[in-house]
Amino acid sequence: MSYNILIVDDSSIVRAIIKKSLAICGIEIGSVYEASNGREALAKLSAEWIDLVFADINMPEMTGIEMVAKMAENNLLDSIPVVIVSTERNEAQIEELKKQGVRAYIKKPFRPELLRDVVHHVLSNPGGDHGS
Ligand SMILES: [Mg+2]
Repeated sequence: MSYNILIVDDSSIVRAIIKKSLAICGIEIGSVYEASNGREALAKLSAEWIDLVFADINMPEMTGIEMVAKMAENNLLDSIPVVIVSTERNEAQIEELKKQGVRAYIKKPFRPELLRDVVHHVLSNPGGDHGS
């Protein structure tokens, strides 16, 4: 099985770093899509089959928080795993995101090995840690 990935960040440099880190994950990658804010991401999510989303929090137009909330209220999108990659350190906000189904949180800057470990954990637990 190959995985289609969506990378959501307003920085093209960060998107490139995430994309590069995926190369060491040892998973088969199908298509990699990019979006620079939550609104663009939701459009991609409704147009393409996506298996995993990496999302920033602080972005213009629509933040990662708003994007996750929109995904949670859409029953076609609420099962797609989201991994937050952000400089944000607000614990309460991170807890709230996890309640809305966010599967993991990676703090920037990150080592590619951490991203690899998170990807493996998320993809090997499709229902999430709170599932079944
Ligand atoms: Mg940002």
